[in-house]
Amino acid sequence: MYIPEDFIDKLLETVDIVDVIGQRINIQRSGSSFTGLCPFHPDKKPSFSINQQKQFYHCWSCKASGNAIKFIRDYEGLDFIEAVETLASSVNLEIPYKNTGAPKTEQVNYDILDRAVNFYEDNLKSTQGTSAVDYLKNRNISGLTAKKFELGFAFDKWDALYNEVKLSFDQKTLIDSGLFKEKKNKEFYDRLRNRLIFPIRNIRGKHIGFGGRRLNDADQQAKYLNSPETLLFNKSNELYGLFEARREQKKLDALVVVEGYMDVIGLHEHGVPNAVATMGTAVTSRHLAKLLRYTSNIFFAFDGDEAGDKAAWKAFENILPILREDTRIKYVFFDKEHDPDSYIRAFGKEAFDDLLKHGLPLSQFFLNRVKEVDDLTTIEGRSKAAAFGARYIGKLRNDFLKAAFTEEISKLCGMSLSGMIEQTAPPPINPNTPSSIEAKGNTQDNNILTKTIILLIQSLLVNPVLAQHKLWERIPQDSPIATLNELQSTFHNSSSKNPSQLMEYISNEGLKDLFSQAMVGELQMSPSDAEQSFEDCMQILLKNFENREEWLKSKYNAGSISQAERIEFQQLILEKETLDATDRQLLQQLSATRD
Ligand SMILES: [Zn+2]
Repeated sequence: MYIPEDFIDKLLETVDIVDVIGQRINIQRSGSSFTGLCPFHPDKKPSFSINQQKQFYHCWSCKASGNAIKFIRDYEGLDFIEAVETLASSVNLEIPYKNTGAPKTEQVNYDILDRAVNFYEDNLKSTQGTSAVDYLKNRNISGLTAKKFELGFAFDKWDALYNEVKLSFDQKTLIDSGLFKEKKNKEFYDRLRNRLIFPIRNIRGKHIGFGGRRLNDADQQAKYLNSPETLLFNKSNELYGLFEARREQKKLDALVVVEGYMDVIGLHEHGVPNAVATMGTAVTSRHLAKLLRYTSNIFFAFDGDEAGDKAAWKAFENILPILREDTRIKYVFFDKEHDPDSYIRAFGKEAFDDLLKHGLPLSQFFLNRVKEVDDLTTIEGRSKAAAFGARYIGKLRNDFLKAAFTEEISKLCGMSLSGMIEQTAPPPINPNTPSSIEAKGNTQDNNILTKTIILLIQSLLVNPVLAQHKLWERIPQDSPIATLNELQSTFHNSSSKNPSQLMEYISNEGLKDLFSQAMVGELQMSPSDAEQSFEDCMQILLKNFENREEWLKSKYNAGSISQAERIEFQQLILEKETLDATDRQLLQQLSATRD
């Protein structure tokens, strides 16, 4: 699966980096650019700057830089596709995923699950499926809703599904599917038996796993069983019902997070098509980032018992780092007799909507917790509550919310908390070191080479025609600078694109990084100056990599050779088939002056 490049172009044309970053951190206009505190390092004075015209950001201090996609990836800890999904959904663009790129082995893992979905669905319609159909009827689930969710039935047999698929798939696919368990004698049996089946789809509608509800409550087995984690199914990332919700409503006004499959389906049946559920796990920060990708209104509908209480607090803790001032979160707790499904069946959609409307805002939920910490009529109690509050405020990364919560809890505890909130630890960013184009030798040399490559890219940005320069041909294919050829093809094929789009055409992460650094420098070069500087840079790089021996010799003569380079130089000479007088003399000198 991949996303076509022209869509990435369109996306970067549509989103405005100022909006994307401005929704997440506090920025101010300053002249033609925007500045703020850098979210990628502990920043005291604003070193973070956004250039709206170039659609680029960078930090003068920690050197973080890039386009909107890069920002989302690093700020929210997402992979490339997730970052593109986040941006696309924020501007209402549908991603035209292409499946042709899926490796065969991956496709086969989807194929077996598709087969299982069909098999379970057919079972539900068979005479043996009556118990499952009765269960659905009892819960007022219509045939249409059952079809929408592709509900199915697993026979009360050990090998029904296994016999259905065993001849079509190899051993490894059978094991990896998570559909079967293995006996001691290496034989397989069906994991889900005599259960109502809920196929789980990812956001793209692909089947990735199953949930199953026990139909005979006299069974000793667990009420609900899920597929185990597999290559395709990662529980801390997936939400049941999200695909179905988005299919009903492209732009989601809100999402309601409930606890189980039947809640999602029951609510859907009664006109609430935007409920989702986690599958046997707490609400993780990945779940939350995913929810916020599609809406900024989230309702948590939990049981009012101790487990629900814990789940609610866990969700609160996990959402703090990605909370924005435009995020609206409310909690609803159900008393013992009800869950979301039974509530809407008993009182109808209006009552349910009303319940959500009057839910407890996240801020109030938090303040209530702070109040419960200790007796606020005593100094000791108030300090303890303040310390508790400060700990969680410290997890917020949004400055407005931080300020608002600090003020509110200061009031509550009768003491000023400003200055007592710990600096939020910046998220770990992967410093994409340009490893593949790193030169041998010392750091100073590497700095020079890095700067040379940056200047080379800047020259190309000023004068893209240089992608056709004949010097490119001289880069040896097996040298460490062969990666630079990617620059040539990028500029050659897409000279009409703006730089933040061009950046996405570069696949080498190290090169991408240098590309963003190149964009940061405001260079006032004329196209002919650019050509000159391009040639100079290319000559330096070629000299270093095309003829390493010459390069080391010049360094030796200039007296700037390092110990490691000295050894490398010696080895290069020794590797020669024949040594002339100069070589011998050099070898002697190199070993004599060694300290
Ligand atoms: Zn920074």
